[in-house]
Amino acid sequence: MSTPTFPVTKNKNPQLAHFNMDEIAFGKNFTDHMFVADYENGVWKNVEIKPYSPITLDPSSAVLHYGQTIFEGIKAFKNDKGEFVIFRPDQNLIRFNTSATRMEMPAVPEWLFIEGMKQLIHLEKDWIPTKPDSSLYIRPFMIATDPYLGVRPSLTYKFMIILGPSGPYFSAPMKILIEQKYTRATPGGVGFAKNGGNYGASLHPVELAKKKGFDQILWTDANEHKYVEEVGVMNVMFVIDGKVITPSLERGTVLKGVTRDSSIILLREMGYVVEERNLSVEEIVTAHKKGLFQEIFGVGTAAVVSMVKQLAHEDYIMDFDIDKMVIAKALKQELHEIRMGMKEDKHHWMVKI
Ligand SMILES: *Cc1c(COP(=O)(O)O)cnc(C)c1O
Repeated sequence: MSTPTFPVTKNKNPQLAHFNMDEIAFGKNFTDHMFVADYENGVWKNVEIKPYSPITLDPSSAVLHYGQTIFEGIKAFKNDKGEFVIFRPDQNLIRFNTSATRMEMPAVPEWLFIEGMKQLIHLEKDWIPTKPDSSLYIRPFMIATDPYLGVRPSLTYKFMIILGPSGPYFSAPMKILIEQKYTRATPGGVGFAKNGGNYGASLHPVELAKKKGFDQILWTDANEHKYVEEVGVMNVMFVIDGKVITPSLERGTVLKGVTRDSSIILLREMGYVVEERNLSVEEIVTAHKKGLFQEIFGVGTAAVVSMVKQLAHEDYIMDFDIDKMVIAKALKQELHEIRMGMKEDKHHWMVKI
């Protein structure tokens, strides 16, 4: 089908002129417009771009009771050539629809997800921060809207995209606790999907870790708490004896991060060995005792590459010298240069608006 042009209702009271781009907080500030579409009887309708505003929901809406809701997180940039670009949105569309299938929600077509995003960003391009390391965060999401309390898949849904300027996300090196009681995901469960409930369920264990002085949790497998999975809402990479190791996606308990995938590709091109496999806490501790555990970092859209300065397994504390994290830094720089157009985009990851 040819590319649709979505109807636009302009915001009569835009906030852009009053907005101080030096005071951006992640997830708190949103642009003047949003993209909205409704699903009913197998078709997407009421597709439009309109002023950012609260939405009305029936109190019995399915999403409010049974958590049928999924989301994505993507970034757009103004690159060094002054072009507006989005990082790998096709991958987010694939994952969004994987999440939709698992949550028994309808697939969202490319013309809504990608075109909707492009047209919304085009309208809001003056909201894209231009300072180094800043970006426009894109949040597509879908909710179940049936006013019905029976536990069954909703017949109606709302798909929306909202945008928020995102500052130079300063990610302070993290202190991480290896989780030995709670679980994020189980085989056969929903860990591979970006559905709301996964994040609600993670809050309590993370708060308990914060009370002990940590910033985040390193999740371990549900059966034995033996194999590591993810750091908070980021994929995790370890450097042991010169090799990069990251938990495999096999069991369906690790989210298939776009940053993870991009990092594996880039690290291999840079000449590093990358292994996707099970990695046990025991192997990590043993490597640390032998002096072979060199780096640990999280990878994800929000903070891109986040270094870990301390990892704790019960009373055993492993400290890292951030200045010596050669691979994490090289990866961060490589991703930065590709996104800013400073380096050739060999894999065609950057989508122009
Ligand atoms: C979103 C997310 C990630 C990172 O995925 P990206 O596509 O790189 O942003 C990792 N783990 C979890 C649990 C997530 O929700």
